[in-house]
Parts: sequence; C-alpha cells; structure tokens
Amino acid sequence: MDKADILIAGAALNGLAAAVALAGPKARTPLDILILDQADPTKFSRDTFDGRASAITASSRRMLEALGVWEAIALHAEPMRDIIVTDAKLGAETRPALLHFGEEDHGGAASAFMVENRHLYGALLDAALASPHVRLKTGTRIASYTFGPGLARVTTETGEDAKASLLVAADGRASPARKAAGIATYGWAYDQTGIVTTVAHERPHHGRAEEHFLPSGPFAILPLPQNRSSLVWTERSGEAQRIMALDDAGFLAELSRRFGGHLGEISIAGPRHAYPLSMQIAQSFTAERLALIGDAAHVIHPIAGLGFNLGLRDVAALAESVAEAVKLGLDPGSDAVLETYARWRRFDTAMTAVATDGLTRLFSNDNTALRAIRGMGLRAAGSLGALKGFFMREAAGETGRLPKLLQGEAV
Ligand SMILES: Cc1cc2nc3c(=O)[nH]c(=O)nc-3n(C[C@H](O)[C@H](O)[C@H](O)COP(=O)(O)OP(=O)(O)OC[C@H]3O[C@@H](n4cnc5c(N)ncnc54)[C@H](O)[C@@H]3O)c2cc1C
Repeated sequence: MDKADILIAGAALNGLAAAVALAGPKARTPLDILILDQADPTKFSRDTFDGRASAITASSRRMLEALGVWEAIALHAEPMRDIIVTDAKLGAETRPALLHFGEEDHGGAASAFMVENRHLYGALLDAALASPHVRLKTGTRIASYTFGPGLARVTTETGEDAKASLLVAADGRASPARKAAGIATYGWAYDQTGIVTTVAHERPHHGRAEEHFLPSGPFAILPLPQNRSSLVWTERSGEAQRIMALDDAGFLAELSRRFGGHLGEISIAGPRHAYPLSMQIAQSFTAERLALIGDAAHVIHPIAGLGFNLGLRDVAALAESVAEAVKLGLDPGSDAVLETYARWRRFDTAMTAVATDGLTRLFSNDNTALRAIRGMGLRAAGSLGALKGFFMREAAGETGRLPKLLQGEAV
C-alpha cells in the first residue's frame, strides 16, 4: 500500500497547481504528495490536447509568481491591455463598444494575461516534478474510493492501493471522487457549445480582447503572442456540431463572418475543439477526508474566463488551511481543515457562479427588449457598469478574504 500525506486525484491544471502549492519549491511546510491521473500529463502540453487559452487575472498571476511558476509561463503570456464588449449585429458596418476596459482602469497595468493552456500545464508539471515531495502515478484510473475513518484510500483499476490523510479531488466536472462520496450537484446545461481554436492574423491586435455578444452566445477574440488570437466561439449545441463537421475551408468561412476584417487576412493556426457548456456546483465542497477543487467543485460558463482562476482560489484557500493546521501539529485531512476550506470557498464560488450565469443569460439572447436593456443598463451606468465592476473586482481578486498565495505570499 502506497502512503502519502495527501493524495490528489487528477493531474490537470488544478491538480498540478495543488501539488505545487502543497509541496512545490516555495512551499514552507512541504507535505508528501501522491498525484494520480488516468491520462499522461506530459501529453497535456502538446498543442493538440486542449486548444484552449486561459485569461489569468492579476491575483492568479500573483499566486503563480508565489508558486515559482510564473517566470516560465510569462515567456508565453500576452498582456490583455484593452477589452471591448459589443453586441452589434453580425454584418454591421461597425461594432460600437457597449463597454471598454483599458489599462487606465487597472492602474496602468494589463487587466489579465492570456496564456495557452499547454504552457500552463507544462510549467505546473515541471514545477511539480522538480519537487522531491511530489510523486506522480499516471496511466491508471482510480476505480474505487474509501473515505474514513481517519484516512482516504483509493484503488486503481490495475489494483494498486494508496492511502493518505486527505484526498483532494481535482478530477474534473464528472468527478468520480465526488460521486463516490455521494455529493450531489446543482446546475444546468446551457445548450451551448464553446468552439475553441487559434487564429493567425495579418495585423497586430495590440493586446486587445473583443467579446462580441451574438444571439447564440459570446464570440471572444483573445490576444496571444505573435499576431495570433485564441477564439472561444459559443453556438447552440446543434449548430456547433454542424460547424465542427465542416472542412477547413467551410470552417474558416463561418469563422471569418463572425471575426470581421479589422485584423486583416486570417488563417486557422491551431486544432479545433468543442466544449459543451454548463453550470454546476457541488452541494458540498468537502466530505470526510475529501476536498473538492476546480471543476470537480464548480463549473461555470467561460463568458468571463474565470473557471481556472476560481480553481486557483480553491487551491490557495486549501493550501493555506492545510499549512496552518500542519504548523499547529494537526492532521491535514482533519475536520477542522475541511471546515475552514469549505467556509472560505462557498460564498465566493456562489457569487461568481451567479454573476457568470446572469451575464450568460443576458447576453445569449437576441430579444429586442433585452438588447435595449443591455444597451441602456450598461451605458446608463457610464464607465462603471455592473459588468465592468464585476470584471474589475474579479481581475483584481478583491472578492472575499484573499488567501495569502493570491496576495503573492508563500504558505
Ligand atoms: C471553452 C472554455 C474556455 C475556458 N476559458 C477559461 C479562461 O479563459 N480562464 C479560466 O480561468 N478558465 C477558463 N476555462 C475553465 C478551465 O479551463 C477549467 O476550469 C479547468 O481547465 C478545469 O481544470 P481541472 O484541473 O479542474 O479539471 P480537468 O481539466 O477536467 O482535469 C481532470 C483530470 O482528472 C483526471 N481524472 C478524472 N477521473 C479520473 C480517475 N477516475 N482516475 C484518475 N484520473 C482521473 C482526468 O484525466 C483529468 O486529467 C474555460 C473552459 C472552457 C470549456
């Protein structure tokens, strides 16, 4: 039987971030971590694996710095200097901005950084593997879970057992660990699919992100290094299926209609992927000897690019709760640690999920009255509309009591 202080199920973005926070080069009281994934995470940094890029907010960047991984990520990060929000009709000659956020709204700094997920996976995996306290077991699915008394235990499909004081479930939206613990979820599917790809363009984007709210959902053009942009193109799921099945020329034609001509000639510069979109929150973030983080705890619409940022907040709160307990000689999987973690994360998660869901509903609709309300609501509020305030608070990480890692301090 393999033993560790903490087992982490899932070695994708949140599982790796948790391993680095709990036992990476900057951890003050590193614990012994065993991280398990059915997939091989060295493959996650290939550009064919995920295709997504993530908007990393200011507070997440501070945390990645505190974890010692930002330097490697920064080589591939594009500062988001400007954000334009528009709901102009497709084919409109101009796309007037409903809302604009510039560097002046963020004290002269970029509001966020765009990073392709492959580089996030690569940097986090390197940092995890560089730690003498982290072991990685891959290519084997966890098939069974036991929670308590006193320990969490898992058995893989190849019959290997492991036990620890705590199991951190970073095993994604379908989270087998969450299901094994009998934790239900609230939520709904949006009947929307996010088509993701990368586009190269003739003219520079100058760090400008565009969120174009179309009736089927948002079409986001997000700046990447070297005259490239990442697209998150939301469509009703049936239509997305049709678009995904098009050949390259047909796909580019559909894309070009939505993209507009402002960046000159465009070409496809990455694989296409389709992600069904939903909102889902676990009814509890903890159970005996179990803590849920990332998509295992909450899935939100990518409209505001906050999903992984929310996961990092889980990691920061959990790492601090565990570190405080360990300093006092307490068990990292004790009820006290789990209660602190759950209390810390519940309100912030609910607020972000509700705000994100509201935005999705308000903007995924071509109803004339709603269109007018959108224009009135956002313009009447002048330069600080509800949306702007929401984005700015999220970007600065000002919601709730901020864990130390998000303030840039090690734990
Ligand atoms: C279109 C789109 C755009 C997005 N854009 C942004 C953005 O701009 N900014 C942002 O912050 N967020 C964004 N997100 C959200 C973000 O990508 C996710 O929140 C994040 O990737 C979730 O990571 P995770 O590690 O929690 O889960 P996952 O990536 O789902 O990883 C789960 C891991 O668990 C493993 N696993 C599962 N079951 C088992 C088992 N039984 N045994 C062993 N291993 C197991 C899997 O193999 C997998 O590696 C976006 C999401 C979408 C869909």
